[in-house]
Amino acid sequence: MNTPSNTRTLLPTLFALALVASSPARAAIEGVTMPPDDGKLRVICFGAHPDDCEIQAGGTAALWAKNGHHVLFVSVTNGDIGHWREAGGALAWRRKAEVQKAHKILGIQGVILDIHDGELLPTVENRRMLVRLIREWKADLVISHRPNDYHPDHRYTGVLVQDAAYMVTVPFFCPDVPAMKKNPIFLYSPDRFQKPAPFQPDVIISVDSVMDKKLDALGIMISQFAEGGANGSADLLPDDPAKQKKRHQDVRDGFAKRQKGFTERFRGKLTEWYSQDNAAKIQHVEAFEICEYGGQPDKAELKRLFPFFD
Ligand SMILES: [Zn+2]
Repeated sequence: MNTPSNTRTLLPTLFALALVASSPARAAIEGVTMPPDDGKLRVICFGAHPDDCEIQAGGTAALWAKNGHHVLFVSVTNGDIGHWREAGGALAWRRKAEVQKAHKILGIQGVILDIHDGELLPTVENRRMLVRLIREWKADLVISHRPNDYHPDHRYTGVLVQDAAYMVTVPFFCPDVPAMKKNPIFLYSPDRFQKPAPFQPDVIISVDSVMDKKLDALGIMISQFAEGGANGSADLLPDDPAKQKKRHQDVRDGFAKRQKGFTERFRGKLTEWYSQDNAAKIQHVEAFEICEYGGQPDKAELKRLFPFFD
């Protein structure tokens, strides 16, 4: 029988056990192989749809992967209305299969959250989901859309990631996954919108050495690009093999041109990162802006996180 003093020591233990029992143990991120704690960088990129991360950060992701770093692309919606001809579960599965092939080419992992395309909202439930993913991945870097992008799912992805940018460190928010001791660095990918403020490139990466990989990865997402996605039509990819070949080449050329457009837009800042000679030769870049929430890296820290400069 317990003496009063034994009861005093036992009660807190029982209370702690009850807390543990009421918080279900979380498996690692479903379908994702958790990387070892090997000192390599851990990057998580959130895009609204299964193609956004790949467009915005596919080249830099391939560079990180080539150097043994760990990259996870998260599509916050399942993309199930992103086509002119088909929708629903069948489209979501098709898009999942396409991004999985793209991730294989880039050497990274991916996950698609089960939220309908076009219906994402910045709810507390979704905030919890993103906070858990960032913590479980033990992210050093988090990339997402800016919250003034054109598509509501892009905007709310940006808002949800901003909302996570402090909460990942708060122990009693989602206590089922340990809070982060160090706030990661949060970055935005570029867009063309000017209001309330245009995108500012705080770090610019040459992706020339992996541009073919990026174009292969984007080209494989046929539902989105060759077939034109939500605003496409049957005319884009006709049955004639010669016309199909041309369409695939046009998609590839279009993305290469888009990437060259960023290079010209940010060319004045390239010499902050590359020698004059090398900067002049760069054709394709990806760029990121530092979010004011989360960790605030100086230039030396950015060079550690983007170990690709000469
Ligand atoms: Zn999108």
